[in-house]
Amino acid sequence: MENIAPALLDWFYKNRRILPFREDPTPYHVWLSEVMLQQTRVSAALPYYERFLAVLPDIPALAVCDEEKLHKLWEGLGYYSRVRNLQKAAKIVCEQYGGQLPADYAALRALPGIGDYTAGAIASISFGIPVPAVDGNVLRVLARLLDCHDDITRPAVKKALATKAAEMVPEDFPGMFNQALMELGQTVCLPNTVPHCLECPLCGGCAGCAAGTAADLPVRAPKKARRVEQRTVLVLICQMAAGRRVLLRRRGEKGLLAGLWELPNTQGWLSADEAQAYARSLGAAAQTVFPLEEGRHVFTHIEWHMKGFMLPVDHFSPGWDGTWMSAGQLAEEAALPSAFRTYARLLPGLLEENGETGD
Ligand code: SF4
Repeated sequence: MENIAPALLDWFYKNRRILPFREDPTPYHVWLSEVMLQQTRVSAALPYYERFLAVLPDIPALAVCDEEKLHKLWEGLGYYSRVRNLQKAAKIVCEQYGGQLPADYAALRALPGIGDYTAGAIASISFGIPVPAVDGNVLRVLARLLDCHDDITRPAVKKALATKAAEMVPEDFPGMFNQALMELGQTVCLPNTVPHCLECPLCGGCAGCAAGTAADLPVRAPKKARRVEQRTVLVLICQMAAGRRVLLRRRGEKGLLAGLWELPNTQGWLSADEAQAYARSLGAAAQTVFPLEEGRHVFTHIEWHMKGFMLPVDHFSPGWDGTWMSAGQLAEEAALPSAFRTYARLLPGLLEENGETGD
């Protein structure tokens, strides 16, 4: 197993997908792409990647970017702590390394939001340092190659597999080797199904394939069930002189979706009357209430099951800390987390009725 590099690299040269961050693997490009690809498919992340780089082409630009603009560039990708950590790290890189990521695994690993995997990816792909980059895809490939039946969610097992990976990384082309293993996991040694062993360059030496156990690997302890929360979301629309506006507010600085905009919402499923009363408690009076469709959003540990109401607001108390936003502001400035997408996609229609966008 130590010498899988030649066959794997040969396969990768012939079969790899052409991706922009592979074609121009500067440290910043690799870093950004790896952070975006955590929890996001390549096809979904690509437009974000292009747009992000068009606005913030280098680390100094990222370091000084306005937070609102940063969130807007990330809108729809979710897990906003990723982009906040990117910026925190960018500031440190500007202060300590002249705006360039350091060519040193330990120094990369010490930056906010950069774990073993991302540090390994940047170090090997951009700087040619022979260290492993073990993400979920690579863990699965390794568990199958080695016919490992231990629970890969256990840190000791992960560490043992990462050590094996480190032994396999060649001194020449470590970045290509790591990318090849990831690509193999993404396109051939697929999760939750029978892997395509007949297409695999490593099948001759794969212990899981030989034992007929590959499809059952890796072994993972069952995840803890997510907590289900019932919530009611209000879409409060007010006709103002300048046009229609929707009420948004900021979430607190700590916890879930910290610091992001949200549609007003509260725990529990409210009736229409209770929704009206809740709107009043926010300073917005409405005579009528329209039920909206139900929504659902899955976070890592929590699931929101949402009911929604649209309330045309007759009048509101100024001074409350919400913000009335136009369709233009929503499109250009404010990032609304995808947890609210069931209701957010109604907003352009609700705000632009009668052609009044009121920017
Ligand atoms: Fe995965 Fe099959 Fe290749 Fe083994 S032979 S690494 S199980 S695709």
